[in-house]
Amino acid sequence: MPTPITAVRGPVLFKRLGKQYRWMLRVLAVGAWVGALTLFGEWAARREIDLLVESMHRSLEVQALTLRGTVARYKHIPFTSGQQGDVQNALVFRTDKPIDRVDIYLEDINRRVGAEALYLMDANGLTLAASNWNDVKSFKGDNYRYRPYFEQARAGGMGFFYAVGTSTGKPGLYFATPVQTGDTVLGVMAIKVTMGEVAKSWTQAESPLFLLDSRGIVFLSSREADLYTATRPLRPQDLEELHRTKQYGTAQNGDPKAFEATPWTMRPRQHPSYRRLSMLAGGSQKDYLAIEEHLPEFDWTLVVTADLTPAQHARWTAITLGTLLSAALLFGGLFWRQRETRMHDLRRLGRELESRVTERTRDLAEADAFRTAMENSLQTGMRARDLEGRVISVNPALCEITGYQASELMGRLPPYPYWHPEETEKHWADNEAALKGQAALTGYEARYRHSKGHDLFVMVFTAPLIDASGAHTGWMSSMVDITAQKKAEEQWRQQAIQMQRTGRLANMGEMASTLAHELSQPLMALVNYAGAAKGFSAKGHTELLNETLSDISEQAQRAAEIIARIRGFVRQTTPGFQPCNINDIVNNVIALMRPEARHQKSRIVTRMPDGLPWVNADRVLLEQVVLNLILNAMQAMGDKYPIDRVVTLETGREGDRIYARVLDNGPGATEEVSRSLFQPFFTTKADGLGLGLNICRTTMELHGGRIEFANRPEGGAMFTIYLPIDP
Ligand code: ADP
Repeated sequence: MPTPITAVRGPVLFKRLGKQYRWMLRVLAVGAWVGALTLFGEWAARREIDLLVESMHRSLEVQALTLRGTVARYKHIPFTSGQQGDVQNALVFRTDKPIDRVDIYLEDINRRVGAEALYLMDANGLTLAASNWNDVKSFKGDNYRYRPYFEQARAGGMGFFYAVGTSTGKPGLYFATPVQTGDTVLGVMAIKVTMGEVAKSWTQAESPLFLLDSRGIVFLSSREADLYTATRPLRPQDLEELHRTKQYGTAQNGDPKAFEATPWTMRPRQHPSYRRLSMLAGGSQKDYLAIEEHLPEFDWTLVVTADLTPAQHARWTAITLGTLLSAALLFGGLFWRQRETRMHDLRRLGRELESRVTERTRDLAEADAFRTAMENSLQTGMRARDLEGRVISVNPALCEITGYQASELMGRLPPYPYWHPEETEKHWADNEAALKGQAALTGYEARYRHSKGHDLFVMVFTAPLIDASGAHTGWMSSMVDITAQKKAEEQWRQQAIQMQRTGRLANMGEMASTLAHELSQPLMALVNYAGAAKGFSAKGHTELLNETLSDISEQAQRAAEIIARIRGFVRQTTPGFQPCNINDIVNNVIALMRPEARHQKSRIVTRMPDGLPWVNADRVLLEQVVLNLILNAMQAMGDKYPIDRVVTLETGREGDRIYARVLDNGPGATEEVSRSLFQPFFTTKADGLGLGLNICRTTMELHGGRIEFANRPEGGAMFTIYLPIDP
């Protein structure tokens, strides 16, 4: 199915078009760009031209004012000076005296007004008196009848003329007025004002200035070369008049001047307010702007020009700036496009990263959840600490074991709240070893105090915490609650002791009851027979007495047999007498007692020299004696600090005897107690039986040895057993 055109989005359409007509688009873009630059340049030039035209208008006004000012200053001087009486006299009488006075007078006026010359002509144009009467080039005697200003004044009007002086060759402005008596014109008074000041100020102008007469001849210019050139071709009558009036002097040899065309051309007017002209300046053709103003009172045209270079500069500056700007825009655009592409890539990368981070976060969260679930499901307490021992993580099992909330444990440094107050020393030592990485790999046992106050036992295993970069950041410990196991062990131990005791008791009880039972019959028989014998003896029944005595002997025999049989039974349970090493016996007992010693927190110290002579003894019975003494010693130190709970075992030789000593740090025994120690059933303990020491004494006596008690001078009890050396 064809794709409907509306489905093609704008940019895609443009792209498709662009592919086909890309070159055309480029040409169009370049064309538009060049056009825009040209327009911009033109605009800048126009702006500059407007500024130039404005300043030219100002200049034109100033120049026109200057000219008008000059004319106004001198215009009335001929009339005023013509009113003087001597002037009339000189004209009427033409005698020397008045003429001389007029000369002086005119000289004085002329000096004061600063004109070039002030002079008086008669009605025929002959100069009678002049301010320059004393000069070589004095006007006196010259006839200026041919000058239009004379004619105008002679006709009774105001003469006005600009011309080059025929005597001086200097250009100047001539004003003339008639000197009259009534209606009769006696003569003409004229003044010549040089335009030197004006011309001089013009030479300093930046651009040329021209003053054209009514025929288009340049008669005043800031440029020497333009003087007396014509802006348009002169008519023959104009040439004739110029020749006649010698307005601008004559060429060499009195030939008429040619009045060539100006060295510049005025371009046809393109703009209402200015013209353009191009002229040679500084050796090259240059374009100028020109504006002109007609001064009707003189019939002159003032032309002010301005160099077009600033406008051209403005155009090129604008084009250059425009080019630079568009280049900057182009590069900026390219940079922006590149940046956009990069940003787009970066954004895409960012999104990819973000999704990867999300994925990773989800993985991590899953892993974390998995780890948390695992931690939570663990029965083993987990505790992470930093290198200083600060708790940084605990799992619920640890809180469960110790009874403390995670918030109570997090951030804690040792001592931890669950440390057992009676074991702080051990906890510090264990802690220090763990933080130094010296904790036993097999773990160590610790007694803690639950938050609710009861004791608990744990096995602690510690391993270093290593982070992802391989750095050692702390320690991870796992704790297994072994309280139940410990309790069971304790129970078992208690039971074992109990059983041992009960066993011993049971044996003895059994023995006693057997003895009682077995012996009761012969004893009862003996008592009966003895009573009967007594009766027979009293009654003198000798035969019966003898019979009864034999029965007595028989019963006694029977009792002896019973005793022998029981002794035999006792002997059967032990290995019997044999050569033994006392140290071996003591070491055996210590090995048996280790768990109990640990439980009682007692240490067993030995001082047993090697090479002691052997003894002849029942090893099992002797072991029971030593075991009993060690048990008593540990029990006696129950109230002492664990550190002081030391049982010392010594063996040695004393003469022909071997001894073994059990020393403790307990309270020892009072005088009274020490007297009864060995009595059967003597005990100071609530659960005591009072038979231990008694049996010990019996056993020692059985071995031909003895047992002694003494209080230690430094406190504590000392029991010593002595055995004869085996000969
Ligand atoms: P039991 O241990 O059952 O009391 P024993 O005959 O072993 O019986 O001990 C008798 C008594 O002797 C004890 O109750 C105790 O008062 C005292 N006795 C035994 N050994 C020591 C000892 N090492 N230090 C102090 N008194 C002791």
